[in-house]
Amino acid sequence: MPIQVLREEVAAKIAAGEVVERPVSVVKELIENALDAGATEITIETREAGKRLIEVADNGSGILFEELPLAIARFATSKLSTAEDLFNIRTLGFRGEALASIAAVSRMTLFSCPAGAKQGGKIVVHGSKIETYEPVGLPPGTVVRVEDLFYNVPARLKFLKQDTTERNLINALVSRYAMAYPDVRFRLIHDGKVFLQTYGRGEAREILATYYGVEVARQMLEVDLEDADISVRGFISPISLTRANRKEITFFVNGRWAQDVALTSALLQAYHTLLMVGRYPMAVLFIHIAPEAVDVNVHPAKAEVRFRQPDRVFSAVQRAVRRALLAQPSVVPVEWSN
Ligand code: ADP
Ligand code: MG
Repeated sequence: MPIQVLREEVAAKIAAGEVVERPVSVVKELIENALDAGATEITIETREAGKRLIEVADNGSGILFEELPLAIARFATSKLSTAEDLFNIRTLGFRGEALASIAAVSRMTLFSCPAGAKQGGKIVVHGSKIETYEPVGLPPGTVVRVEDLFYNVPARLKFLKQDTTERNLINALVSRYAMAYPDVRFRLIHDGKVFLQTYGRGEAREILATYYGVEVARQMLEVDLEDADISVRGFISPISLTRANRKEITFFVNGRWAQDVALTSALLQAYHTLLMVGRYPMAVLFIHIAPEAVDVNVHPAKAEVRFRQPDRVFSAVQRAVRRALLAQPSVVPVEWSN
């Protein structure tokens, strides 16, 4: 084949594939947008595990009517304007790709109204094409409705797992975000049934209980370490409470869910020799560090982070975890206590 520039529609679908892999990726991007907009209430609704419908409603700052078409355009963002800004990111979004990517592979409707605006707007996009764009009366905030995800990417659709699996991924994500943002009220509804609800009261352990159950939440140990510009907070399981895999180990870095193998191994090392082979702890840890000490622009889905001084971060995680385990004197090996 000769070299040819891809048609825009093909290019858009390829780019979307990097951001939107499955329903949970859509939920993640929409929650991040709501949080960036300062929302204190976020409601997530799905039908058929998000394959039929994903709707995220927030009471955040909203989008001006004139800016609605821009919001769904690629590389259009209100969160960054120069390349230097990339090294001082304080928002969860910054690539200006999420809404464009979602719009490329679904039927998306965006309703939004900024607080104090006379009226809001509605824009309907089918596979990147704007179908409707009109003013409508709305309460302040934003609703993003995503229908028939991957209707135009059959190959992607085939890779999706059973509804239960896709739903579990969404449950895990929303509950983690609820723990990371205890001051925000989250509500997750699947096929009309409320799966998770938090109250924005800032009670981290209460939120832990909504997902793990009261008994597990009661046993989890609190982690709280502050070391110069790094802080590590959250919850870890005592050595008596383990799982057969690493799925219950979650890290947030500066409020962003980070899938980082190295952070996980730092955590596991802290438990070293205390757990049986093949058993893993549960953990939800929130790391805060100066924005310029971490590069978040590593991955289109923003799932990975790179630390400028990884060893300092890993060591802080290990010390934080060991200190929390030490609070349980009976389980600590002798060599730790000196
Ligand atoms: P990014 O988050 O990287 O800027 P997105 O494609 O996710 O890119 O969103 C594009 C823009 O649309 C955002 O920069 C923001 O200005 C606006 N936007 C998206 N979602 C919301 C929302 N829920 N509330 C307010 N503004 C939003
Ligand atoms: Mg975004």
